[in-house]
Amino acid sequence: MSAQSNVLRAVPSPAGVPDLSELAARLSTGFALLGLPDRLRVIRDTIPGRIAFTTSFGIEDQAITHAIFDTALAVDVVTLDTGRLFPETYDVWAQTEQRYRRRIRGFSPSQERVEGFVAREGINAFRASVEARHACCHIRKVEPLRRALTGAAGWIAGLRGDQSGNRAAMRYAVVDAAHGVIKVNPLIDWTRERVVDYVRANDIPYNALHDRGFLSIGCAPCTRAVAPGEPERAGRWWWEQEDKKECGLHLDAAPDLAPQRTERALADHDA
Ligand code: SF4
Repeated sequence: MSAQSNVLRAVPSPAGVPDLSELAARLSTGFALLGLPDRLRVIRDTIPGRIAFTTSFGIEDQAITHAIFDTALAVDVVTLDTGRLFPETYDVWAQTEQRYRRRIRGFSPSQERVEGFVAREGINAFRASVEARHACCHIRKVEPLRRALTGAAGWIAGLRGDQSGNRAAMRYAVVDAAHGVIKVNPLIDWTRERVVDYVRANDIPYNALHDRGFLSIGCAPCTRAVAPGEPERAGRWWWEQEDKKECGLHLDAAPDLAPQRTERALADHDA
């Protein structure tokens, strides 16, 4: 174990229960000098209990998946299978399992909720209004995430700070009160170029859409390629305002997408 990871070890509160804020603060201050595998090892050493890494099979997530599987780290690699992903995303999912000989568990949305939403609003209702889009994201992403994080003390995500203005202020680690976990963004200070270099150097499988101008890849109907010079997330929900482009998973990137708001949107659509 490295000297840094000793410094970052969990310090139980007087009651014997680790203080999440304390752990998040320690992770945030100790990461800067570490490479990706060491950061992940520190996360594992610091957060007691189950840790889940949610991958969408984008290039950042592939780098993290590689570092987890390559070091046999005890972290659950899971994905949210919205049912609207690109065929290329399912391909890289399968290629990744084959490469590392590990299964990546998919969490699907509630069949009942999807069927009800589509029956009421239409198959592409997310284009009708921001609220309908949030409701769709809530059904297909946010609720499955809640199940994926059940029983977890830590959540690893592949966000980078320079992906968008929303994400620039994010930190390495925060307490995600909505899910009761420490959320860690081990690539928050990496550039896209650094991620690409890491993926190339380690011959990591990646989504073929990245070679066709797709920088950020989500659901097929809500993602397009971007032109050179366009912001990285310009291809996500491109019909919406730039500052609203979050799906409700990452509340540290979009605190205004509080659970009450998406729950309310969902309730409206369930009514
Ligand atoms: S990205 Fe689009 S299709 Fe996917 S869950 Fe959100 S609104 Fe629905």
